[in-house]
Amino acid sequence: MSKFQPQQVKQISYLQDFKCAAASCVDSCCVGWIVGVTQDNKKFYEEQNSEILQYVEPQNDKEFQMLRCDDGSCSQLENNLCSVQKNFGEAYLPDICYTFPRSYKKIAGEVYMAANLACPESLKVALFNNKAGDFSKWNEVEQSRPKAGLYNYTSEKSAILEVDQTLNIFSAIVEMIDDTSCNSDYAMSKLLLLARQMDQKDDFNWLNLKSEIAQISKDKIAKIAAENFAKVTVQNDLFGVLKAIFVLTKIDRPRYNKVVAVIKECVGDYELSEDEFLRNYQMILKSWNNSQNNFDQILKNFIKAKLSYRTFLIGLENKQQNITAFALEYLVVKMALMCFNHKLQREMTAEETIDVIQPLTKRFYGLKNDKLQNFCIDLQWQDCGKLIAVLLNFSQDRKSKFSQLISKISSKFYNK
Ligand code: SF4
Repeated sequence: MSKFQPQQVKQISYLQDFKCAAASCVDSCCVGWIVGVTQDNKKFYEEQNSEILQYVEPQNDKEFQMLRCDDGSCSQLENNLCSVQKNFGEAYLPDICYTFPRSYKKIAGEVYMAANLACPESLKVALFNNKAGDFSKWNEVEQSRPKAGLYNYTSEKSAILEVDQTLNIFSAIVEMIDDTSCNSDYAMSKLLLLARQMDQKDDFNWLNLKSEIAQISKDKIAKIAAENFAKVTVQNDLFGVLKAIFVLTKIDRPRYNKVVAVIKECVGDYELSEDEFLRNYQMILKSWNNSQNNFDQILKNFIKAKLSYRTFLIGLENKQQNITAFALEYLVVKMALMCFNHKLQREMTAEETIDVIQPLTKRFYGLKNDKLQNFCIDLQWQDCGKLIAVLLNFSQDRKSKFSQLISKISSKFYNK
């Protein structure tokens, strides 16, 4: 019998199709992570079910965790199923297990629920959603217990906003990303400029976000990229993306290693010569541009889902820095998709797409944001113009510096 009272929360619409894959999950959240047990959870076990206490150990002076096996999995995972849930019911799960992959924001007393993309099933329902508005509509659902770790959803600039205003701002951002005249690279660039405006403009018009977005036209983005092409180098910027994959986010897990191996096979790593790298890159770029996959929609959904998880952009302090770190993740995901698309030479299934993206999103989720931000500072990506030039250079814009280099290298190799 649970001591918890049900709670009404507002769930982002795309999550209505989410269902935990439980025993058939390809990358269970019970493996590879510390499963934290809060002081409240421990007290609950002491009062209600001391049997579970034998599986709880101290993590440090203040916190606790579930005992782990040598392979990093939770000691309570049996045949990929949780024995706490099976034997005692979900009321006895530690908060983190009951909550994951959901994330919560509290706005004016109401709880809003989005999802973390480290989970393969939440990633799948987000990336393959094609219902207009599902990233800015909220459905009332009942949760059988309240959550720990609610975000008190305010930042200096957003503290003045009412709940409707906050949600309208997020809807306007979603609309900006969905704009069909811009591909996902432009959408990511617009987001970056919008974040900078939010950070820097004293007279930022929070209540008429569309007027702020109107100032960020596609032409303006293209002009900024053109002005900054000269700052972009393969050595620093494209190799920077590879370094993020091979060094910054590196982790010895089979699913992650598989992604890294395909990237290495298709494009090489950052220790290649520029000529070699560009010769390989030219080939993956050609496959990408001829691809039958709807990658643009997938990448736009990735941006929207990530934003809903990261407190809609509005609630973040240092918005530009945060979006810069997200742009790194976006480019890493895109590089991985480009390589798999090239290797497979056919339309990728939803499962294959998730197998590429999820190990990366899970790894990014596990990294501290300041580590990601410092990596971006080393690449000089805090220069928003330069990062926009990188984003537009990465694949689509045939007039770009990378593309010029690529065509130079390819004519050297193919016109012999
Ligand atoms: S990662 Fe997601 S689908 Fe897999 S077990 Fe955890 S919540 Fe369920």
